[in-house]
Amino acid sequence: MTIGTPVTPSSKIKRTTPSCTPGGPKVREENILVTVRIRPLSSKELAAYDLVAWDVTDENIIVSKNLYHERHGGLYKFDKVFDPTCSTRKVYEEGARDVALSALSGINATIFAYGQTSSGKTFTMRGVAENAVKDIYNHIKFTPEREFLIKLSALEIYNETVVDLLNRDSGPLRLLDDPERGTIVDKLTEEVVKDDQHLRHLISICEAQRQVGETALNDKSSRSHQIIRLTIESSLREDSECVKSFLASLNLVDLAGSERATQANTGGTRLKEGSHINRSLLTLTTVIRKLSDGQRSGHIPYRNSKLTRILQTSLGGNARTAIICTMSPALSHVEQSRNTLLFATSAKEVTNSARVNMVVEKKQLVKQLQEEVARLEAELRSPEPSDSSCLRSLLREKELKIQQMEREINELKRQRDIAQSQLELERSSHKEQKHQGPQTGEEYLAKRVSSKLMTEERELLYLKWDIPPEGKQRRRLQLVHKLWTDPLNMEHVKESAEVVAKLVGFCESTQPVSREMFELNFVPLSDKKTWMGWNLISNLLHL
Ligand code: ADP
Ligand code: MG
Repeated sequence: MTIGTPVTPSSKIKRTTPSCTPGGPKVREENILVTVRIRPLSSKELAAYDLVAWDVTDENIIVSKNLYHERHGGLYKFDKVFDPTCSTRKVYEEGARDVALSALSGINATIFAYGQTSSGKTFTMRGVAENAVKDIYNHIKFTPEREFLIKLSALEIYNETVVDLLNRDSGPLRLLDDPERGTIVDKLTEEVVKDDQHLRHLISICEAQRQVGETALNDKSSRSHQIIRLTIESSLREDSECVKSFLASLNLVDLAGSERATQANTGGTRLKEGSHINRSLLTLTTVIRKLSDGQRSGHIPYRNSKLTRILQTSLGGNARTAIICTMSPALSHVEQSRNTLLFATSAKEVTNSARVNMVVEKKQLVKQLQEEVARLEAELRSPEPSDSSCLRSLLREKELKIQQMEREINELKRQRDIAQSQLELERSSHKEQKHQGPQTGEEYLAKRVSSKLMTEERELLYLKWDIPPEGKQRRRLQLVHKLWTDPLNMEHVKESAEVVAKLVGFCESTQPVSREMFELNFVPLSDKKTWMGWNLISNLLHL
């Protein structure tokens, strides 16, 4: 199996906050959590009457007792400083827990122990692992809505060779570069963890497998770097619409001693080991120093060692990181302890940008893609929101069309009314003819003068058209005679047309004459000749 640090493909990152977030908020740019743990004087140190060189003045500060030798005023400040009386539980709770448990909610997490040989790295990491296992399974117990899948892999870097601690026989493992996941360890065994007991058992196998060398500094000094990696995947049990799987790794890193090879009383093979160890640590130190200088955009020599390649994401990348620096309190180790504190000081300045790694399950992915396709299809069929101006003009066009049609309907209604009144007019004329004998068109119009024209209108016309006051009946007839007497005078023709229109009932006296009355071939009664000019008049008026 090929193992790399879980990374959400950029296309699948969704920053959703789950209901429960162990280890704090989900997306963050934060500094590496740096703590310092001072172990008690060892029996060897006590036997040699070694002195304690350091004071822990409060929970954040460690001060050198011999200020004369100190460049930094002998005072160092960290996120936490644990004195020799501190329990491993406290060290875990305040220096590792939050970071470790981030892995339960999709954030890669790494915890290092850094320090010289015999300073207490392995002791501390063992405790961190034990406590983390306990907390992880507690969290799983109290999060029944999620299903967890935990896998373990473990490797050792020894002489710049990567070895699988779960399958030592597999020989040296290669590191591969994956464009999406970064550096991955090829063919590293990954065991699915059944329960907490199983996990403890697997961790103990790794420990037993670890190469242990002997140097003058520590009887059981470990000359290799060990990385135990838990890959934690979790998903909501019930069917859910949204993406709900988290995937993250928790790296527990027990580094080899940070001392210089020359300091160890080594030779032959041991010297080779020592130089490799220091090469890896030297690179680690350089990487940390460059990152702490804010040179993240510049060249960071991750590739100079296997250790820094494998841990690249934990150093200024997609992970939350905690470093527990361990040190001996002894005066005989003061130089190494000071180096450790200087390394820790640099590490404090390094920031990581951890994010939640989400995994889209196949079923959910298919569903999501189907929905996306449907949405895109719908978008293709209907205009884009960005085309709203086009949509607006389309609407405006439709509105204008509706208005036009409304006008046409009104026009048709009007024509229908005219036709109806014409019909009525003819009917009533027929009736009148029957009762009163033949009647000329002029007589017919004259009869309607008093009822269809208003008094003022009538008087105005009498005056204008020089009609003398010679009795009602006569005046009316004269008025009709005066119609269209001057066909060259457009004003007169228009006025005549209007008067007739009113007389025959095509419009009220207050309304202007409408176009359609001139278009009608109005031929009433027997007096056809009189009315032959209607079309002509309508043409003349250009109505
Ligand atoms: P390292 O891994 O850094 O080489 P170890 O963890 O092996 O060092 O520790 C060296 C010795 O010191 C071990 O015997 C360990 O049990 C002991 N020791 C380390 N830290 C503590 C501590 N905080 N309290 C008690 N004993 C410790
Ligand atoms: Mg060790």
